[in-house]
Amino acid sequence: MVTQRVMAIVGAGHVGGRAAQTLREAGWRGGIALIGAEPHLPYERPPLSKGLLTGERAAVQCGLRDPEAWREDAIEHVVATVQSFDPVARVLYLADGRTIEYEALLLATGGHARRLSIPGASEPGVQCLRTLDDAAALGGRLTPGSNVVVVGGGFIGLEVAASARVRGCEVTVVEGGARLLGRAVPAPIAASAQDLHARNGVTIRLKSAPRAFERRDGDTRGTLAVTLDDGDVLHADSVIVGIGIEPADEIARAAGLDVERGILVDETLETSARGVFAAGDVAVFPSRFGAHRIRQETWHNAETQARVAARNMLGARDAYGELPWFWSDQYDHQLQVAGEPALGSRSIVRTLDSGAQIHFDLDGEGRLVGASGFGLASALAREMRLARMLVERGAPIDGEQLANPEVKLKSLL
Ligand code: NAP
Repeated sequence: MVTQRVMAIVGAGHVGGRAAQTLREAGWRGGIALIGAEPHLPYERPPLSKGLLTGERAAVQCGLRDPEAWREDAIEHVVATVQSFDPVARVLYLADGRTIEYEALLLATGGHARRLSIPGASEPGVQCLRTLDDAAALGGRLTPGSNVVVVGGGFIGLEVAASARVRGCEVTVVEGGARLLGRAVPAPIAASAQDLHARNGVTIRLKSAPRAFERRDGDTRGTLAVTLDDGDVLHADSVIVGIGIEPADEIARAAGLDVERGILVDETLETSARGVFAAGDVAVFPSRFGAHRIRQETWHNAETQARVAARNMLGARDAYGELPWFWSDQYDHQLQVAGEPALGSRSIVRTLDSGAQIHFDLDGEGRLVGASGFGLASALAREMRLARMLVERGAPIDGEQLANPEVKLKSLL
């Protein structure tokens, strides 16, 4: 019997697109429905806060593949919102009334940018940065000399701050925590990033949050007044809110799947419902370092989970075991984090000739669990590649040798 059912992917972002491609590469000859609410074909997000804002990249260069490749692979891009699904009947219900019967399903729904719920939060000129359209809107506003207030000193906030400086804007970052990059980066690296931004003319206000935005048409200092919680008022032409994302797990929750700030999956990226997989920002998966689960909001996670999930949709039982890894480019510097540094109980610093630093984190048994580097991008890349390999290997390691830049990391592998 020939099945009419398709491989369905909800979410046409990086994960969705790469999974669809992998399904074809792995030999699936039936239909593939790649369903997403945005009108764009799958694109990569890293340029949104960097090249697209500085003008070094055009929107068409952000596509995950050439547009023809989707057609050649007969991947159907369905522009629609999925309202719900029935994991027993294996049917998706779209908001426009259509239904899609699926063979296996991948939830690649990503996350929603968190919004501020303060007066004026939806004024024109106040925006988040999550989509290609968000980046296009912001890019048009970053005119030289304009005042930009960035709310949130995380990855979006700092990358946008650097891009806005490159465009000649005056930039203030308002961060609620006592330091920048509180979520995923060790404190000394965050301090180096703060120095770098200060040297590049960014004003950083820690332990500070906006209380209200007010439109002031005609004000030459900026059309938005940003009142902070200490009463200070900043003037802005643009406000970018980068205060994290919420995993988009609503339809999984409504379908009765196990959900806990993201969709719970096993090592094969299968959810609690048979034949339903989840990958990318929304997936909460088993850590390779222990019994706990983690969620990763990174390019590398999207790229690698998409491939494993697609193969498993076709019946493979591959375990996902990639080392967490991400990078952030700011000015001519780069920050990289590999592994799970927070699991470490001891940190060892290696300072390179260029001034770049790598912080290695070891657990109680002397095993490397994380490496975080910061420095000139050109100097960091090679060392961090080796550092990642060391963390990947996970064997106990001599801390003194790690700290000594005369000892080549390669020799420790
Ligand atoms: P993020 O990295 O979680 O940073 C959000 C920051 O906003 C945190 O420092 C947070 O401080 C702060 N914050 C929260 N509420 C605030 C408030 N009311 N006022 C001032 N500050 C506040 O999230 P993001 O920068 O928005 O990035 C969004 C997503 O894109 C993430 O998934 C991120 O990983 C991803 N991304 C990744 C890269 C990369 O890998 N290179 C680049 C860009 C974006 P507390 O922690 O103290 O709450």
